[in-house]
Formats: sequence, structure tokens, C-alpha cells
Amino acid sequence: MQLLDGKALSQKIEQTVSAEVKELKAQTGLVPGLAVILVGQDPASAAYVNMKKKACDRVGFYSVSHEMPEDISQEAIENTITMMNDNQNIDGILIQLPLPPQIDTTKILELVDPSKDVDGFHPYNVGRLTTNLDGFVPCTPLGVMELLKEYNIDPKGKNCVVVGASNIVGKPMAALLLNADATVEICHIFTDDLKKHTLDADILLVGVGVINLITEDMVKDDVIVIDIGINRAKNGKLVGDVDFANVSKKCSYITPVPGGVGPMTIAMLLSNTLKAAKINASKRV
Ligand code: NAD
Repeated sequence: MQLLDGKALSQKIEQTVSAEVKELKAQTGLVPGLAVILVGQDPASAAYVNMKKKACDRVGFYSVSHEMPEDISQEAIENTITMMNDNQNIDGILIQLPLPPQIDTTKILELVDPSKDVDGFHPYNVGRLTTNLDGFVPCTPLGVMELLKEYNIDPKGKNCVVVGASNIVGKPMAALLLNADATVEICHIFTDDLKKHTLDADILLVGVGVINLITEDMVKDDVIVIDIGINRAKNGKLVGDVDFANVSKKCSYITPVPGGVGPMTIAMLLSNTLKAAKINASKRV
């Protein structure tokens, strides 16, 4: 069994992004800029935003965070997004989800300029992904694809089973695998007999949010397991959705949690923001 080391790869990617930021600055005088919108006091969301901000600092991005109270109005968030859309120093806009219940999240995501949609959540970019056109791809599944590439794992022709079908993880994961010529099955909460499907997987990708959802009897020998889940166990430790201790014995490759997909998500946010900055810089020349 070999670990898919997302931490090491993310550090490598950060170094490349950092070097490219210096180059962009030398050539154009511009540095990539990321605006983050955080609504409310959820500690996990605040921690993610903090990690993203630190990563921006490490690679030399300009970053600004708009922290808003839980009871903020739809209009106030929309005004901030419009401002960021119009701000030439901002190349990427990230809205930390989930938003509070009084907010219409779809309307908010649709307001982001698709050329600054570094999370890839705007329906324009979702459409481009499903039609296999270049655009912005959600960071977590994009990070998984980079991790597979790093270890020369080609999904082409493989049975890939994605467990979890959210708009930010499962669905774009499935689209990317399909674009890479894999055979893709998508499972979710209403899937009957999950094990029947997971046993079919050459590559099993799980992003659900349920500790120990995948146990060793649910996978075949030599499976490749990508654990996208991030959960806080009773002892305070971060764990994924896979019973790592037992499932890993049957795997050819597996991602650890933490240190697998998580760091790749942040690395892809940096690389998407750099991509947006390069496109915006080329429009200004
Ligand atoms: P979500 O709640 O939006 O979606 C969960 C999905 O899992 C749904 O499609 C649901 O149908 C499915 N599901 C729920 N229970 C199930 C079950 N018992 N069997 C099969 N399917 C089931 O969650 P999300 O935002 O997609 O996040 C999923 C997990 O991925 C969470 O643990 C989250 O913390 C993690 N996550 C990790 C990263 C990262 O960077 N590694 C990024 C985003 C999300």
C-alpha cells in the first residue's frame, strides 16, 4: 500500500505558483488578488478561510477577506460581490459556504463574474466542465485529479465509484473522471446497497461526511481509495469517511486524512487564482 501524499504535492505546487507570481509581477507589475467572503461565526469556516489566507500570503498573492455577521442581508452580500467583480485588483472571488438560511446561495454564486469564479461554482463554469471545455473547476475534485496524475494513476477505462453527489465535491468529481475517460458510478444517500457498488471500484472516491462509512468488506483487493471526507472524531482528531486502519490493508494506494485531499484543495485555489490573474493580465495588455 502506498500513501497518496497530498501535503507533499501541495507544497510542490505552492513553490511553482510562487515562482509564477514573481514572474507575472516582473512582467506586468500585477500580483494575483483573491477576495474571500465569510458570513457568520462558524469555527470550521473561519479556520478554512484562515488557512486560505495564509496560503495566499505564502505565495505572494494580495488577499482581502470580507467578514460579515450571520444576520447579514442578501443585498449587502450582493453589493460586496458587485464591488469585487468591478475591482481590477481582484482576480478571484471565493464565497465560503454554507451561507446562512436567509441567503439565496444560488443567486449569490450566480452573481460572481465567471472569470473570477475560482471555486468553479458558477453555472457557466459547471456547464463548461460537463462539456469538457476549459474553465474554472472546483478545487477539491481538481486536487484529486492532480494527485492521481502525480502518482501516474490514469482513470481511463477504470471503474470509478464516487460516493457523495454534492455540487462542490461528488458531481464535479464524476464529471472530471468522465472527461478523463473513466467509467463512472455516482452513489448517494438514496443508493440501495452501497457495498454492491463500492465492491466494483478500481478507484473509490468518497466525499460524504460520515466517519467509517467505508469498511474493508466494501472494497476489493488493490483498490485505489481517495478519501475526501473531513470529520472531527470524538477524540478531537480529523478523520475521513474511510476506516483507514482496515481498508488501507487492501489498497494499492490510499489518501491519508489529514494530509491527502485537504491540502490539495488549497493548492488548487492558488492555482485557479493564478490562472484567473494571468487571463485578466493578458486582457489588460
Ligand atoms: P454534502 O452534505 O453537501 O453532501 C454529502 C453527499 O453525501 C450527498 O450527496 C449525500 O447524498 C451523500 N451521502 C450522505 N450520507 C450518505 C450515506 N450514508 N451513503 C452514501 N451517500 C451519502 O457534503 P459535501 O460538502 O459534499 O462534503 C462531503 C465531505 O467532504 C464532508 O466530510 C466535507 O467535510 C468534505 N470536504 C472535504 C474537502 C477537502 O478539501 N478535502 C472539501 C469539501 C468537502
